Amino acid sequence: MARITRKAFAKINLHLDVTGIRTDGFHSVNTVMQSISLCDEVTVSLSDSEGFTLACNVAGVPLDEKNLAARAFIAYKAATNMPLGAHISIKKSIPIAAGLAGGSADAAATLLALNELCNQPLSISELCEIGARLGSDVPFCIVGGSAFADGKGEVLHPFPSMPECTIVIACGGEGVSTPEAYRTLDRIYNNFSSAEDYTPADISQLHMAASANDIFAVSNSLYNIFEEPILSVRPVASKLKSTMLKCGAIGAMMSGSGPSVFGIFTDSASAMLACKKIETLGVTPFVCTPTGKID
Ligand code: ATP
Repeated sequence: MARITRKAFAKINLHLDVTGIRTDGFHSVNTVMQSISLCDEVTVSLSDSEGFTLACNVAGVPLDEKNLAARAFIAYKAATNMPLGAHISIKKSIPIAAGLAGGSADAAATLLALNELCNQPLSISELCEIGARLGSDVPFCIVGGSAFADGKGEVLHPFPSMPECTIVIACGGEGVSTPEAYRTLDRIYNNFSSAEDYTPADISQLHMAASANDIFAVSNSLYNIFEEPILSVRPVASKLKSTMLKCGAIGAMMSGSGPSVFGIFTDSASAMLACKKIETLGVTPFVCTPTGKID
């Protein structure tokens, strides 16, 4: 039976601001997301029997409909009304619950693979509509590259690409549940009760820096509203960030609601030094680069 393997790229947030709570209860965000070469591999094999089976090389990842890739299959089958059966195999490299959108990337790769196996009955924007119902990061993971997103993070707008660089990712210490991270912000910002008075963090510096292809200015313009409250109670993540900066990162920031941290390097010797130091802390680093739009 036909099968397709797709790379499911992780993302980092170069900018992440929460601007309020919407009437549907979700938080509104302003974010700049960037795909990176760190990826899972998702293989979708069509089968004769309707429904899905799922396998993953990492223990602890749900293998039932709690898995975002499985939910993507169910949503795709419902949207196309086809009697589909598939086996989904996920080879995970993206750390789990790390703020790198690993589950969303797997869901996006599953939607793209199914659409290809079925001879592209749905457009990319239709896949993004399905994806948005699965999770706010899924539309970005379908499109990839660089984007500004608002709404819940699912409304995408063009943004200039991140300049060439080496990125080191490190994820260690206690994980962060995304809902808990939002509850922490709600406490700090008093449930965003004065959201109308809130001035969103400025992204114009980051936009100018990326447009000018200036990696130093990009590194100086990173912003994440979650970073201070999360890193203040995550000593390992905080240490990973300071280690990257001491080793020569020109910028470092927590990604998403954490706890993973990324460092931006312009020379590979500094990146390698950072990796060595990170390993001495008992954490496995990943070396990667920014990637462009998904083919
Ligand atoms: P985001 O940045 O989009 O908030 P994340 O990187 O912080 O996501 P994920 O790696 O997607 O978090 O995992 C969050 C939870 O989702 C995990 O605790 C896991 O149980 C569940 N999950 C569902 N599907 C997957 C998947 N395919 N891969 C990893 N986790 C998954």
